[in-house]
This record gives sequence, C-alpha cells and structure tokens, in this order.
Amino acid sequence: MPHSDVPSENDSSSGQGSPDASRDAAKAPLIIFGEVASTGLARGAAFVCDCLDEAVVLRRTITAEETLKEMERFDAAVLTAGQELLKLKMQVERDIGKNEAGIFDAQLLMLQDPSLRREVSVRCLTGMVNVESAVDAAFAKLTAIFVRLEDPYFRERASDLRELRKRLLDILMGRKPAANPVPTEGGVLVAAQILSSFIAQLDSKAISGVVLEKGGQTAHATILARARGIPLLIRAADATQKIRTGDRLIVDGLAGRVFINPGPVILREYDQLEANLRAHQTALKGLIDLPSVTTDGVEIKLAANIGKSADAVMAASLNADGIGLYRTEFVFLVQDRFPSEEEQYTVYKTTAERFSSREVVVRVLDIGSDKLLPYFPFPLEANPSLGRRGTRLLLAHPEILRTQLRAILRVSATHRVAILFPMIGGVEDLVAAKAAIESAKASLRDEGKAFNASVSVGAMIETPAAAIMTARLAREIDFFSIGTNDLVQYLLTTDRTSSELASYYEPLHPAVLRMLAFVATAAKAHGKTVSICGEMAGNPAFTQLLLGLGFRSLSVNPGEMLEIKSAIRTTNMPQAEELAKRILELGTIQEIKDCLRAAAPNDPRLVQH
Ligand code: PEP
Ligand code: MG
Repeated sequence: MPHSDVPSENDSSSGQGSPDASRDAAKAPLIIFGEVASTGLARGAAFVCDCLDEAVVLRRTITAEETLKEMERFDAAVLTAGQELLKLKMQVERDIGKNEAGIFDAQLLMLQDPSLRREVSVRCLTGMVNVESAVDAAFAKLTAIFVRLEDPYFRERASDLRELRKRLLDILMGRKPAANPVPTEGGVLVAAQILSSFIAQLDSKAISGVVLEKGGQTAHATILARARGIPLLIRAADATQKIRTGDRLIVDGLAGRVFINPGPVILREYDQLEANLRAHQTALKGLIDLPSVTTDGVEIKLAANIGKSADAVMAASLNADGIGLYRTEFVFLVQDRFPSEEEQYTVYKTTAERFSSREVVVRVLDIGSDKLLPYFPFPLEANPSLGRRGTRLLLAHPEILRTQLRAILRVSATHRVAILFPMIGGVEDLVAAKAAIESAKASLRDEGKAFNASVSVGAMIETPAAAIMTARLAREIDFFSIGTNDLVQYLLTTDRTSSELASYYEPLHPAVLRMLAFVATAAKAHGKTVSICGEMAGNPAFTQLLLGLGFRSLSVNPGEMLEIKSAIRTTNMPQAEELAKRILELGTIQEIKDCLRAAAPNDPRLVQH
C-alpha cells in the first residue's frame, strides 16, 4: 500500500483527539488506496467491469482418435492468435509508437515457443484430455515458473502469459475476445485486471483513468497506459467491491488513491491541484534543474507549500528546496475522526522521505475560522476569524497537539523536519507551545522513542501583534514564516474569504509592505531566517519587490514554483533593493502599483495588478 496523507480506513485505532470529537462525527469520504503505475489525475463516472475474467475451463477425457484432432485445433488457434497479435501490434505502432508496439513481441514469442506446444501435446496425447484443459494446465505450469523468478521484469511477464492463455482459450472456446463494454466517454475504468490489448484498442478519449485490483508496474497494460497518458492505479484492494458503476471518482495518480463520491472540500483541493498541474505542464519545464538565483548571483531558497501527498510528489519532481509549509489540515480533513499518532507518523515520514536532506516544515493543525473539521464541534462565534483558531485552539486541546507533536518528533529522529506554529499572537502563545514540545519530548524519552532533541521550531507571523513582536519572539524560536494570507486580513481588517471586500484585501497596501519590511529587518537583526509562505510569495509580479524587501526564502504552491523561479532568475538584487526602497516611501496602493509597473513595463504579469 502506498503511503499517503490519509491513514488506512481499515485501521480502527481512534485518534487521541478531543473527547467531543466522536459526537459530531460526519461522514468521511470513502477512499481506496492503490499504487501509482501511471501518473496523473482523472475524474469521472466509474465503470466497473470484468476485463480479464478467468475463463472456466472444463476438463474432458478424450479418445485416442480425438487427440490428433485436438492438437490440430490447438495449431489453428495458435495461428489465429498470432494473426490477432500481429494486427494489434500494427495498430499500436500506428496509434502509440514503435517501442510500445514491441510489447506484443513477448506474447508472439511465447506463442511460438516449442515448449508451449510440447506442454500442451503431452497433456493432450498422453493425458488424453481436451485441448482447452491441456492449454489451461500448460499455462498454469509456465506461469508458476515466471511468478517465482527474482527479476521483477521477468516476473511480470507472467501477465503476458495470462493474456495469451485467455486469447487462446477465447479462440478455442469460440468466445468473442475483448467483448468488454467500454465506459462512457471520460469515465474511469475499474477492474480486477485488464488486458494490454484492451488498453491498446481503447480510444484514448474513452477513459480518463484506470483503477485495478491487481496489475503490475511493468505489466504491458501499465506500459501502454503510461504511453497513452492514462492515469492508472494498481493493487487497489477490493476496488470492484467498493466502487459501483456510476460513482463519481477522483483518481489521484500522484499519491495513489481513489476518492469515491468526494465532497466539496476534496473537490476544491483537486481543482487546485489540477490547476497546478496545468500551470506546470504548459511551460517553464526547462527551469526545473536550474538554481533559484538572481542575475547577480544571490541564492534564494524556493520551497513548496503542500497539503496532500500528491502536492509533495509534484514539489519533489520540480526540485523544490524542501517544504516551507506543510499544511497538515488535509491529513485531518479526509477523516471522520482524529488520526492517531501512528497514522500521522506514517504520513509525515512518507512526505519527509521524498525530500531526503531538504527540510520539511510541518505546521501543526491550523483549524478554526474558515478551516473546520467535520468531527470537531466549534461553538458558534460572532467573528470566527477572531475566535478559536490555530495554536490558541490547540493549546486549549492539549491532547490533539500532543499527539501531533509526538508524531512529528518521532519523524525528526530520522528526517529533517521542523515544527511550525500557526496564528501566534504573542510570546505567551509561543512559550506555551514550546512547553508542549518539551512535554512531548519527555514522554517519548520515557518510552525510549527516538527524536531529534534540537528539532527546529518556528512561528508563523500572521497577526500584526506577532509582526510587531518579531524581535522578542526571535528569542524563543529558530525561524519565522510569514503567512501573508492572514496577515493581510488582520492588518487591513478585511475578511480574506469575502468577495465583497476583495478590493480592500490588498497585499500591495503600503501598511502590508512596511510590515513585511519591518519583520524582515527584525528577523535578520536577530539572526533568524524568515520566509514568506502566504499566496503573496507565489505571485511572480511581487517577486522582485519581496527580494528587494530583504526576503531570501519563499515557499509557494508547486504549480507556481517555476514561474517564481523564472522571476527570481530575472531579478537583479541592487535594482530590486532600490525599487523596494522607493516603494516603501509611497503612501497609496495606486502609487505602489504604478511604481511596480514602471519597474517592469514589459512584464505582462503586472497587467492584472
Ligand atoms: C497564511 O495565512 O498566509 C498561511 C500560509 O496560512 P493559511 O493560508 O493556511 O491560513
Ligand atoms: Mg494562515
């Protein structure tokens, strides 16, 4: 089973969350896990089918006179199968490519292999059984040999043998080959197993994705799915039982899971991921291996913001300088209860593993305001964004915080993770949060569980109070991360979720820029790194300005990463500093926008700002 941000549904161990939590338990999304065999995202109506049904073969004793006739039937079937395979090969060569067409050579070779005929004739002539039964037994023996081979590639060839067996038996038994109905256009095919010929013959628009209970990484059906760009999950246990034809599916062929009839939260997440993928695919691919460095040689750390495992996969493939913000809310959101320590440990460790020596900053659960958990009851508050949220909320529910901290700390024993606290209001919050870390460490120590005693601890600057207190907060922690999404709303007293107030929610407000400059200077003066992880960091129109204000570390959504890298690589630091200096003297949003535009008159990215 692949690792994921979603603990197994079958794991009945409940999390150590709020005692109230179980009371309001809402229905959790149904998720199936699989192994990614062909990457990509697919959505559509499920079509559950039996594409590789195991043929039932009846054994019949035959007379001596019949034996020769049975072998003639076998030879004729081999001939027909050979013709069918050659036809398929030509079709694939035309539709997909020469290399992919070559995969049918394996079946052609097996078909013509004298040992196949020998195995069949021994059973038919000496064992006096009908040819279908002889073919079935011969293939069982040959498949058993392949399945035991050490080399996974050759082991996988057992799937070719299975296909060939089915083809020969179909011919011998007069069944129509591949008589499987095809899903309605754009649907997701769900099956126990599929034939490579089935994928080969499929109109590529017919299906958007495939979910299999069996299958293999080097099975030819997989190779063809990859070549056709069809997302494919294999080894998705009980998929044909749990999914019904017509169910709406999201196939996450990045992290290896299928969401069955997902709700709006998950749909929104995947809208975002889809947009990210599109952005990434369209251009800028050439930048992936280039460093994030300005024209005058200043290196900038360009990390990624992630929520789900799929984001981590994408960030790693784009060579992110680690994870600057791991929003762990998603780990909790896809559940109907609090995930246990063990479940969280597995999810965080899997993510950290993708980044080896690069740091992964794990932010502790940041719920409240617009981020709610279905199973965690919130009291009705007149101003939820000014109410119970982030670190404040966790401090009021120490059992939730402790479980999560223990999980992160245990990962720190083997991986480079850091702990980040959201919505810090002042020194008191941080001191209490640090005490929770110390207490979690002590409990792990008592149990003999390993952790990194000097794990990095950071504070988010998301409230004006925290921003003003940067210098004093610096004494308590190792690094800062500025959440401009919240900082802008609190500084400008404008709800970040309100469309009516959108014109007031202005990151280029002079107060915001002055506050950013203030935090950057104060953090630097106290030897602490400071990164920006709010959406501002992911807007290439702001990159030059943010670098000029003193920021050397940005964390952005994976889909924005290459655009930002491109903006960094076209920035000249002395010019950026000069621009920031000028902008900090301006008093209105319009003046700032005009100044930014004048600094990059040909930059189309500034048109919308
Ligand atoms: C922010 O507020 O800028 C931030 C990164 O946190 P979130 O968007 O998750 O609230
Ligand atoms: Mg925030």
